[in-house]
Amino acid sequence: MSLREEARAFLEESLSGPFAHARGLGGPGREHEGQELRQAWERHLGKHGWTCLAWPERYGGRAASLEDQVAFHEEYARADAPARVGHIGEGLIGPTILEFGTEEQKERFLPPIQRGDELWCQGYSEPDAGSDLANIRTRARLEGGEWVVTGQKVWTSLAHVADWCFVLCRTEEGSQRHRGLSYLLVPMKRPGVEVRPIVQLTGTSEFNEVFFDGARTAAGNMLGAPGDGWRVAMATLGHERGASTLGQQIGFRRELRRVIETAKRTGAAGDPVLRDRLVRSWLELEIMRLNALRMLRSDRPGPEASIAKLYWSEWHRRLGELAQAVQGRAGLVGELDALQRLYLFSRADTIYAGSSEIQRTIIAERTLKLPR
Ligand SMILES: Cc1cc2nc3c(=O)[nH]c(=O)nc-3n(C[C@H](O)[C@H](O)[C@H](O)COP(=O)(O)OP(=O)(O)OC[C@H]3O[C@@H](n4cnc5c(N)ncnc54)[C@H](O)[C@@H]3O)c2cc1C
Repeated sequence: MSLREEARAFLEESLSGPFAHARGLGGPGREHEGQELRQAWERHLGKHGWTCLAWPERYGGRAASLEDQVAFHEEYARADAPARVGHIGEGLIGPTILEFGTEEQKERFLPPIQRGDELWCQGYSEPDAGSDLANIRTRARLEGGEWVVTGQKVWTSLAHVADWCFVLCRTEEGSQRHRGLSYLLVPMKRPGVEVRPIVQLTGTSEFNEVFFDGARTAAGNMLGAPGDGWRVAMATLGHERGASTLGQQIGFRRELRRVIETAKRTGAAGDPVLRDRLVRSWLELEIMRLNALRMLRSDRPGPEASIAKLYWSEWHRRLGELAQAVQGRAGLVGELDALQRLYLFSRADTIYAGSSEIQRTIIAERTLKLPR
């Protein structure tokens, strides 16, 4: 049986049996839906070997080829399976640990991500360090064999459910900019960590403020050497802008299908301008898919990851606008439905993981070699 067939059979059986209620839950602007059920689903996937497909087998993965990973994501979208809750672990910190972690760290942190037992969040942004990430002020010092972390993070997605946070912080007193930063793995459910949800346009809270006030983590919970955090942090961003979006992009197809169905139902599909936008959206999605596959063939995406990030996020924001347009006036009133939530949440796509302006600067300087 091919991996595609195996995945299809597994998803069909699971989503018509114990997880029938989980179908279609989550997604942009709907992250609050069925959190506990989706966590149980994550563990169910992990138990049957359907998380972290690309990882080596010794850490619970399948060392799957790119073709097999794509096949799995396509089947996942086709089955209308729920949005994953473990994507930050699988897509961001997991590959970073594989690249920079010691053997001990790999054995400690990778299997619980694969099993769906531990969820992660990303502690980079601060009130004065977003696009200008090197301005980080959160600091950590070694005390009694532990790192003690103090400072504030903001816009931390899923911090309210996370067990661990990868925190970029300053460990050399008086250091400036990219120097003296380190990459710490900090447990969230401990004294000294306070999470305050931020209400978003959708009325829900996907992200949070996180206050570290003497939060502690073991001395060994650092990826890379002290002071080498910037290099590790940039590698994570490469994954965030690149490979980890594979599943997300394939999910886009499902959203576009929903927009097309709505256009047919409301009659918007008969409007020549909207019709043109729908076709354009479909074509661009195909281009995006092919470009993503090309990029993912390179071992370590560099500025190409910025091209992919710019392209998918701008596309998704336009899809949100189209979703609103095909609903006509109905889209402006009543309880928020999935398409309205898509419209509202997709405004954020061109901001997180580096804003579109920042991606264009990276492309200009590193790909086109324009003057700084
Ligand atoms: C939904 C969502 C989830 C997020 N999740 C996380 C998370 O989990 N963890 C985390 O650490 N962060 C997260 N972020 C934060 C995100 O990474 C930052 O919002 C982003 O990096 C921009 O930083 P900022 O908000 O401080 O805006 P600023 O950096 O203040 O930028 C404001 C505006 O100025 C523009 N700008 C800034 N500098 C330049 C420049 N040099 N040239 C041209 N234009 C510029 C920007 O493009 C933007 O339009 C999330 C953000 C969102 C919206």
